[in-house]
Amino acid sequence: MTATAPAYESDVLAEGTVDAVVIGGGAAGLNGALILARSRRSVVVIDSGSPRNAPAEAVHGLLALDGTPPSEILRRGREQVRQYGGRVIHGEVASAESAAPSADGDLRFTVTLADGRHITARRILVATGLKDVLPQVPGLAEHWGDSVVHCPYCHGWEVRDEPIGVLATGPVSIEHAYLFRQLTEDLTYFTHGTDLDEDSRARFAARGIRVIDTPVTEVVNDADGALAGVRLADGQVVARRVVAVAAQLQARTKGLEGLGLPVQDLPKGRGFASGTAGATEVPGVWVAGNATDLVAQVGASAAAGVLAGADINRMLTIADTDAALQEIAEASPTAATR
Ligand SMILES: Cc1cc2nc3c(=O)[nH]c(=O)nc-3n(C[C@H](O)[C@H](O)[C@H](O)COP(=O)(O)OP(=O)(O)OC[C@H]3O[C@@H](n4cnc5c(N)ncnc54)[C@H](O)[C@@H]3O)c2cc1C
Repeated sequence: MTATAPAYESDVLAEGTVDAVVIGGGAAGLNGALILARSRRSVVVIDSGSPRNAPAEAVHGLLALDGTPPSEILRRGREQVRQYGGRVIHGEVASAESAAPSADGDLRFTVTLADGRHITARRILVATGLKDVLPQVPGLAEHWGDSVVHCPYCHGWEVRDEPIGVLATGPVSIEHAYLFRQLTEDLTYFTHGTDLDEDSRARFAARGIRVIDTPVTEVVNDADGALAGVRLADGQVVARRVVAVAAQLQARTKGLEGLGLPVQDLPKGRGFASGTAGATEVPGVWVAGNATDLVAQVGASAAAGVLAGADINRMLTIADTDAALQEIAEASPTAATR
């Protein structure tokens, strides 16, 4: 699932080589860009404008900003990046790849947008987020982010005490059920073709979680279009106001193949592999936010952007110093060997 946020004004793409291009302008990318811009680095964010939480009315669980619409947080973020000279371009990256190094041996990357424009960067921060892949159940996707939810910390409080159904997608749904049981006493677990071991059945029974093994065929709405329940393969409709589903989490990798970033399979999906501060095996390329940490919420994604931005700046200071030394050596070979 990807939803588009309200459109925003785009800056003009910078000419020449910039210190960093940030691919993706969600919480991770914008916070990375903010750190870089405040470090007097030239930084360009390229963002296609479909942050993961676009369907949600408000961001929850984020200190001091709880209840703020996602689009408002990003609007403020873009404004703050621009305040320090960073640019935010509304556009989609169609390809990104390493280019010939500079004369002094520093890394270079070429980033090309879908409309054909391109830009050269010394370093890249990938912050493209992820897409939530829902099970193919008719009617499920239309309620995504509203009555079909995935995260007890994002919208759990808002659906407390409601009749909730957990639509199982695999073993991860078992833990999901306990988390939603904390929020309501009226919880039904639809195994929907997944295994549920005897021990878990006993534990569910102990917590009053009903289990239904008949597969779900569709989500049913009431006359006003609100989610009213799920229909089973035997035709029975089980009344529910909310469906919780552990979607498969897939990092958004389109257009980034040329960077050669390694990906890794995790229990909840697939993301870019990264190490400390989002550094990757590919020199000059960092990753932050949901593109690498599939379970990060807004705060953790923003924090990862900070760490990556700071690490990029740190590595650039080393490259800048190497270049300065080389320049001295070339101007006066004897001075450099003293
Ligand atoms: C329905 C829903 C509700 C949620 N509610 C909450 C909540 O209440 N609280 C909370 O903390 N978390 C919440 N989350 C989680 C939150 O959405 C993520 O933690 C957060 O969006 C991750 O930030 P990010 O910057 O890594 O990725 P994103 O916010 O997804 O941003 C990635 C950006 O990269 C752009 N992009 C992708 N590919 C390209 C490309 N090739 N070129 C250019 N741009 C590209 C996208 O358009 C997007 O703007 C929710 C998630 C969902 C699905």
